[in-house]
Amino acid sequence: MIDLTKIRADFPILSREVYGKPLTYLDNAATTQKPRRVVEKMEEMYYTVNSNVHRGVHFLSQKATDEHEAARIAVQRFIGAASPSEIVFTRGTTESINLVASSFCKAFCRPGDEILITEMEHHANIVPWQLQGNISGVKLAVAPINDQGELLLDELEKRISPRTKLISVTHISNVLGTINPVGEIVRIAHKHGLPVLIDAAQSIQHIPVDVQQLDCDFLVFSAHKIYGPTGVGVLYAKEQWLNEMPPYQGGGEMIASVSFEKTTFNEIPFKFEAGTPDFVGTSALGLALDYVSAIGLEDIGRYEHLLLEYATERLKSINGLRIFGNAAAKSSVVSFLVDGIHYYDMGMLLDKMGIAVRTGHHCAEPLIRRLGIDGTVRASFAFYNTFEEVDLLAQGIERIAEMF
Ligand code: PMP
Repeated sequence: MIDLTKIRADFPILSREVYGKPLTYLDNAATTQKPRRVVEKMEEMYYTVNSNVHRGVHFLSQKATDEHEAARIAVQRFIGAASPSEIVFTRGTTESINLVASSFCKAFCRPGDEILITEMEHHANIVPWQLQGNISGVKLAVAPINDQGELLLDELEKRISPRTKLISVTHISNVLGTINPVGEIVRIAHKHGLPVLIDAAQSIQHIPVDVQQLDCDFLVFSAHKIYGPTGVGVLYAKEQWLNEMPPYQGGGEMIASVSFEKTTFNEIPFKFEAGTPDFVGTSALGLALDYVSAIGLEDIGRYEHLLLEYATERLKSINGLRIFGNAAAKSSVVSFLVDGIHYYDMGMLLDKMGIAVRTGHHCAEPLIRRLGIDGTVRASFAFYNTFEEVDLLAQGIERIAEMF
């Protein structure tokens, strides 16, 4: 069960005010707030452990290395990976996808080959592939969605061609909230001999993810969306891919030996981790995952779904309000517009009431265009949000609608 009083007390920022009003933070799809213990962990790392990892024989270096590697094991367990060597630390979802795009295309793609994505992708799962297009000549193929915002699986399969090399899809849309049937997508892809990358930026914090059960080849997420620090991300990849793909960046840590004539590379995952890693951030991520596990993702998901259902009903009852994204399987994101009110005005006026929502294209311009609009207001909920906050949002929208 979710104990809201206890949980909210863990997040100091939730009790602050903005413009003299209690903060109502409904921008969780952009980033989540941090529990006190996660922030304290970072402070403790800097005050008592700080020392560079992997290179030192001395006590602190060993301790920092232990913390960093313990975080890798925490991630491995959290997503059910077979081995910690399948966990690569990056700066975030965006860097994880850039890494795969760069290394995978270098190893396996030729001009004219295709990467299959969907109409509901974040720019982070579009642009890295386009950049590779300039280098290795790969092109994007795009699977469409229906008007409810659901991916059309049969159309996705129809877009697989002899030139397709990989399918890269978001698990949950950051605009529509749609939960894609990623297990089914992996099954279709593997039937055609294709690997799958899952962008779990919007799912890792809401629903249990088990990479072995999903049988996905790559899965990526950001620590900051699961109550961890900014600047840290994860790339999960099956060992086979990490072994076959060339390094992404060069430098210290990723080498076995260097001479001016020839360099050999470290074993995985270190081959993909050039330079000093953010070991303070990774250890805080490990703690954030423990925090989420102690509450339980099933309970978190169940509670957030109740918030979503309540918010949907409340918002739907507002005159002239349209919700974008009405998939049968949906997570706690509500994108909407109110007739005659620009999303930017709505966002600014809600802000003055202490209500933080996001407005605009949400880094998914092609999707927004597909919806026939140029932006939305987006409220996104986490397990520390309350039904009262949903009421405040609805009342705020109603007041603004009256003003217009
Ligand atoms: N993919 C999706 C679906 C996202 O929602 C986001 C963050 N908005 C990203 C990728 C990029 O994440 P980051 O900015 O943390 O790299």
